[in-house]
Amino acid sequence: MILFKKAADLCKWVDAQQEKGNSIAFVPTMGALHAGHISLLEIAKKNNPITVSSIFVNPTQFNDPKDYEKYPITVEKDIAMLEAAGCDVLFLPSVKEMYPSGQKATQHYDLGYLETVLEGTFRPGHFQGVCMVVHRLLEIVQPDNLYLGQKDYQQCMVIAKLVELIHPDRSIKVNICPTLREANGLAMSSRNLRLSEKERTTATAIYKSLNILKENLQPGMLFSLKQKAQSVLEEAGFRIDYVEIADAGNLSLVNEYDGKQKLVALIAAFMNEVRLIDNMLLN
Ligand code: AMP
Repeated sequence: MILFKKAADLCKWVDAQQEKGNSIAFVPTMGALHAGHISLLEIAKKNNPITVSSIFVNPTQFNDPKDYEKYPITVEKDIAMLEAAGCDVLFLPSVKEMYPSGQKATQHYDLGYLETVLEGTFRPGHFQGVCMVVHRLLEIVQPDNLYLGQKDYQQCMVIAKLVELIHPDRSIKVNICPTLREANGLAMSSRNLRLSEKERTTATAIYKSLNILKENLQPGMLFSLKQKAQSVLEEAGFRIDYVEIADAGNLSLVNEYDGKQKLVALIAAFMNEVRLIDNMLLN
């Protein structure tokens, strides 16, 4: 695996690959890698001659400075995992390398409705920060295929929208990959490293709630079903940001199910200090 710390060096390497006609797959991450990240890389490797991954804990997407400070960092282990998985290139830039002119936004990304719901409501500015870093990464890596996890459902939609905004003519294909879970159902997440063993077991209440929503979905009003899912989380000691059911295609919130609409359930909740998110397609 080749490790690049400088954007200009990686750009040059990518240019040479493109001249050879090699398509490039890109798996951006914030590190503290787990099997979920590696599953994205494996899917990318199956379908592309070259896979590039990045590790960058992006300060501009953290609306809570404490969350940024406490974000787990395990670079040595990450490098070993990427190497074992056969990743071709790792981009590991510094904050200065990613934001040579500072971290202040120079561009506003018009995300429309997507930025006004769910994560958009509870993490103001988060998606602008995500767009800022992904835009810069896409300029450097120039991928043909981008691999993202369904675990961050709304983020996938935001990045697809970003790609449309910045490359209306040049297509970067956005590939959404399934969420990897622990055997007990807990969605793998770098933030799980901040949970105690006991909390990791209690946190399976999120998966239980999502399953309750899926198994009990019926045409009609959804209010009491959402309440049932909420009480499972509350009983486990979660502080809830949201438990919602939305249209899977555009994330408009759905209060009454017509029996046909494609739906996704989305949850964000705090286990003590640690905020976890998860989602599940319902039908
Ligand atoms: P992160 O390092 O959390 O920014 O995640 C990097 C990429 O890995 C994103 O596209 C995530 O959606 C994806 N990802 C995170 N957790 C999982 C998981 N449990 N299963 C599959 N993909 C994941």
